[in-house]
Amino acid sequence: MKPASLRDIPSVEELLSRPPLAALAADISRGYLVERVREVLEELRVELRAGTSAGNPLAGLEERIAERARRGLQPSLRPVINATGVILHTNLGRAPLAAEAAERVREVAACYTNLEYDLEAGARGKRDVHAARLLQQLLGAPAVVVNNNAAAVLLALNSLAEGGEVIVSRGELIEIGGSFRIPDVMAKSGAVLREVGTTNRTRLADYEAALNDRTRLLLRVHPSNYRIVGFTERPSLEALVALGRRAGVPVFEDLGSGCLFDLRPFGIADEPVAGDSLKAGADLVSFSGDKLLGGPQAGILAGRKDLIERLRRNPLFRALRVDKMTYAALEATLAAYLRGTPDALEVALPIARMIRATAEEIAERARALVAGLSSLTPQALSLKVELVPGESVIGGGSTPGQFLKTTLIALTHPTLSAAEVEARLRTATLPVIARVEQDRVLLDLRTVFPEQEPALRRALEALS
Ligand SMILES: *Cc1c(COP(=O)(O)O)cnc(C)c1O
Repeated sequence: MKPASLRDIPSVEELLSRPPLAALAADISRGYLVERVREVLEELRVELRAGTSAGNPLAGLEERIAERARRGLQPSLRPVINATGVILHTNLGRAPLAAEAAERVREVAACYTNLEYDLEAGARGKRDVHAARLLQQLLGAPAVVVNNNAAAVLLALNSLAEGGEVIVSRGELIEIGGSFRIPDVMAKSGAVLREVGTTNRTRLADYEAALNDRTRLLLRVHPSNYRIVGFTERPSLEALVALGRRAGVPVFEDLGSGCLFDLRPFGIADEPVAGDSLKAGADLVSFSGDKLLGGPQAGILAGRKDLIERLRRNPLFRALRVDKMTYAALEATLAAYLRGTPDALEVALPIARMIRATAEEIAERARALVAGLSSLTPQALSLKVELVPGESVIGGGSTPGQFLKTTLIALTHPTLSAAEVEARLRTATLPVIARVEQDRVLLDLRTVFPEQEPALRRALEALS
């Protein structure tokens, strides 16, 4: 048989009439299909000219196009199994929503709502009333919600300090992953950064010396994803508040993670609780909705009524606003906190469950998963599976250097390298994201939902 040449390539029309593509034409537009045909034919021409294709490149051409057409319509955003043990994994979308929050999103998504309609007055209302009541009850202060905490910081600096100076300690000029840098946000806000102190030590006197008639704000930033240890000093929030009061300058604290309850009982120290900062006198605080709060992506600003009013009046607030689905998820999440007890929270919030799970509970799940594995497929035994002690982290730019004890499933494959196993898991139908350490693939069930375990087991069985 002579090798296929450019002249053997069928016409677009002919390809479209072949069964797999003709079947697709029933519910996919012709324009879209023609584009995919042209795309694949162009690749084919390149392959034929280069002589790189093995076998007959024309065989199965219509299946190749049909597959391309189907793949092109698949969503890019998909669920994955997080087996990394990083609870708030920024690359994996941070906090998974509570079931109730997801249900509320579903409820409002495909219908009309009172988003900006006052049902009592029968007139136009404001979207920022949603979540405000719950936040007021939880934090004891008025609050507004924007797109994320980066937006919250930008809005606060622009509303309260544009054209003026903001004093910040050099030890708090942070960068959060994804290029949120305090000096850059400050520049965009139109406020002038006034750095004081040194990287490791900043005293109240440093702030005091920098005060002048252009000072609009004292900014305190939680060093979320790092700690300065050793010979260090930082004034307490109370001391900074007292200075702000004396100078008539508000204190704004960017808390970052948005912890609403004390995590010390779970072995996590050092996370500031939003309500405590307000009680200590901070005039304004901001934090993320999807870090330790466990809700949707959002930025929450709470504090003095007059300051919140100024934020609301800023045209930027309109540009940074959130949609009805965010409000729906946030309200359900906040309601779980208001209901109160740690046990209720654990039932409602996936991240609370994940934080509280013990290494022994995780070991039990791991043992059951591994046992199910070997009984289902004897050949799976060629995969070496061990349970080893390890550590999970909270992540999401919080609690650096603190670990939760866990039990890991360590995989060693007889023929595939750890990197190859990791890649196979990652490209499974339901992708499994794992860690690789010392040429072993490590799976941490702390961040795997129990209902995902069967899919994880199937992905492991497919390895052998
Ligand atoms: C995470 C974080 C931010 C950014 O919050 P996003 O919700 O990701 O926009 C800002 N400041 C601090 C201190 C943070 O920890």
